[in-house]
Amino acid sequence: MKNKDVNDKKEIERKVLGKLATIIDPQYKKSLADLGFSMSLIDHPKDPEELLLMLKTSHKDKRHNIHLESKIREALVGLKLKNIIAIKFEYDAELAQKNITKPRLKNVKKLIAVGSGKGGVGKSTVSANLAVSLALLGYKTGVIDGDIYGPSMGKIFGINERLALGGDGKTQIYPHKTHGIKLMSFSFLLDRDQAVVWRGPMLGKAVEQFLFQVIWGELDFLIFDLPPGTGDVQMSLSQLVEVDGFIIVSTPQNLAIQDARRAAYMFKGLNVPLIGVIENMSEFHCPECGHVSHIFSKNGADALAADLGVPLLANIPLQEELMEASEKGEPIAISNKKSSITKAFEDLARDLCERLKI
Ligand code: ADP
Repeated sequence: MKNKDVNDKKEIERKVLGKLATIIDPQYKKSLADLGFSMSLIDHPKDPEELLLMLKTSHKDKRHNIHLESKIREALVGLKLKNIIAIKFEYDAELAQKNITKPRLKNVKKLIAVGSGKGGVGKSTVSANLAVSLALLGYKTGVIDGDIYGPSMGKIFGINERLALGGDGKTQIYPHKTHGIKLMSFSFLLDRDQAVVWRGPMLGKAVEQFLFQVIWGELDFLIFDLPPGTGDVQMSLSQLVEVDGFIIVSTPQNLAIQDARRAAYMFKGLNVPLIGVIENMSEFHCPECGHVSHIFSKNGADALAADLGVPLLANIPLQEELMEASEKGEPIAISNKKSSITKAFEDLARDLCERLKI
């Protein structure tokens, strides 16, 4: 190889690696240099026309690398190089240990995410009643309804008024307050019949604003009610802030359980501790004859919890009154203090406090 070629390559390498070192990683909000992501630029082993950028990162979830790659591509365009550069990521477990710290939400003792595999399994109903039970035990509690596709907290708590999110990135927002709970919901931003067409970056921005621009004040618990599945809201939440734990809600049948497992593994992969599983609509007690039937099968959540190595936190039965209470805009934990379901939620809240040592 001629000296000139070698020098050209060195120059390209210097430019590329210098530029990359200053890129801010979308998850950790630090530069690649500060994070210690090691990089090298080599001749592509399969294509003599190309160069290969090798990058060791601490991202276990490949989607973080995809976000990072788009930033790298943007930076490379800025360098106006003639060469084609392929990018290869490699996971570095040691780095992951080092880079694990994420910012905490100021003044919030425990940020808990509640998720599910499928929609309609009662995740929001559970989140709402758990929040009420925590508040009734004297804990300062907030709820973020981050279920963009089916925001139902407003309905469950009987709140219709809208709130405006600041578009300037500076405005602060007061959450709604009801029954001692502070509440922020996607539904407060949408018109009643408005179709939701928000995509990744917009969702990420809204999650950021819900977390950092809402005036939460001091909270013992902030419950983040996630949309079902493993999408952009989940990713944004885990990127933006340290989540203290994840609770998965599922009905017992395999169809729901298999998706719940995926959601649980996603959070495990993002280093969010799994607290446990809540089975909802476990069984139906006939109010006439007392007969117990398992409309959505049985023991599915037990098996999921055992498989994940976490406890089954509660079994909430299928009950008309629970549904009706939400329809009327007052969670059952408020509307009927004597109900066995209210007791089940109170037990769940106490158990959670014990587990989280709060
Ligand atoms: P998700 O948040 O998983 O989409 P929701 O909490 O919105 O689910 O619940 C879906 C519907 O099921 C609502 O009408 C709710 O009132 C009802 N529901 C939830 N849990 C129960 C239950 N244990 N018994 C009866 N109805 C329930």
